[in-house]
Amino acid sequence: MNISETKEQIKTSSARKVVETAIKLAKDNADYNAILNLTEERALKRADEVDAGKITGKLAGVPFVVKDNFLAFGAPTTAASKMLENFNAPLQSTAVDRLEAEGAICIGKSNLDAFAHGGSTENSAFGPTKNSVDPTRVAGGSSGGSAVITALNVVPFALGSDTGGSIRQPASFNGVVGVKPTYGTVSRYGVVAMASSTDVIGSFTSNVADAELITDIMAGRDDRDMTTLPDFFEIQTDVKPGQKIGLIKEFMAEGVDSDVRDRINEYAEKLRANGHVVEEVSLPMVEYALAIYYILVPAELSSNLARYDGVRYGHRAEGIKSLAELYGRTRDEGFVTENKRRIMIGSYVLSSGFFDAYYLKAQKARTLLINEFNELFKRYDLLIGPVTPTPAFKLGENTSDPIKMYLGDIMTVPTSIAGLPAISVPAGLSETGLPIGVQLMGPRCSDSKLLALAKSLENK
Ligand code: GLN
Repeated sequence: MNISETKEQIKTSSARKVVETAIKLAKDNADYNAILNLTEERALKRADEVDAGKITGKLAGVPFVVKDNFLAFGAPTTAASKMLENFNAPLQSTAVDRLEAEGAICIGKSNLDAFAHGGSTENSAFGPTKNSVDPTRVAGGSSGGSAVITALNVVPFALGSDTGGSIRQPASFNGVVGVKPTYGTVSRYGVVAMASSTDVIGSFTSNVADAELITDIMAGRDDRDMTTLPDFFEIQTDVKPGQKIGLIKEFMAEGVDSDVRDRINEYAEKLRANGHVVEEVSLPMVEYALAIYYILVPAELSSNLARYDGVRYGHRAEGIKSLAELYGRTRDEGFVTENKRRIMIGSYVLSSGFFDAYYLKAQKARTLLINEFNELFKRYDLLIGPVTPTPAFKLGENTSDPIKMYLGDIMTVPTSIAGLPAISVPAGLSETGLPIGVQLMGPRCSDSKLLALAKSLENK
């Protein structure tokens, strides 16, 4: 169900009825473990206010779900961790505030890899989310819960965060539209920080027009997040004809699943049939993208997670005899294994003896990757490729091998490192019926153009 259908239903019945139905559906689908906590009481109260005409706006009465690393009222903000299991936010994230200002109604908080570290939602302290199409497979991650709840049609849209693919990859694995805007498009105020130089906020929807609407509402400058850009986003109805599109050759190599390659090639054909030019291009720095990402991101997150010390807020270990023991036990109990692995890598690459060899080197390589993108965008309007090398993998398949899990991020991290907009739109199914997404990537602030093009090809 999309946003306009939902609004139609609100008109013919009531916001209360629509919100109640969404909450019931969420409960009926509890087996997927996509929702950590419902915000039922607050949601129904707001629905009544919509019906009484006290709350109005573009999304009046439209239910949505938000990833549980966004601060929102009505339920704890856990980041799917024991550290924040009982943490009730004293304020709301700007993204949720802006949607509420248009009358949208948050009905619950969705599951994720703890602190958004992961690509399968198996790192949640509260159990994995199951794939919406095949429950023996992963939801993708880290925003797995939001993707699944949108794919199951419980709500017309959900919010996620994307640091290295956490919106695009689960969108691809569940057959919904996932948008990672240009870095700085949407305020990150009130969202639990992972890696501050690549974290972005975006949406899951069942079609592109809804993604445009949600982006339009959330985008723009926020004085509480100094990295936000002035609002540049606009919903476009026209598509520039005859666009030049580069298909990234390194993303279509031998190791990539043949079903994935076939669906991407078909999408390229569709672009051509609609008057655009698609040519193969090369992005050689892709070879280093994972190495860059898995140095810079742990470095930043190890610093961001330093605040969870058992003193300020969140979990605090009991029966403590010294300060060192308080820090140590609190962090041991509050973080999952993957959090600890990344904190250790991050602390290592930032340590005085290794800073130049790893962190500084990775920053230099990051600039080279950005330069390569910039060169390509002198000649091409946008780039396309797969989102992931394979469709959704089996639950448990990669959990014992973190490196294998990281390798799956190869196609999503390059644009994150470069701060570029990238979206995942459904491109069809594998032979076994699993969803496959195509990724559209553009220069900074080309978000409106990217979405307009994707919209023009939808259902064609
Ligand atoms: N899978 C990637 C990682 O593990 C992306 C995570 C994210 O975007 N939050 O870092």
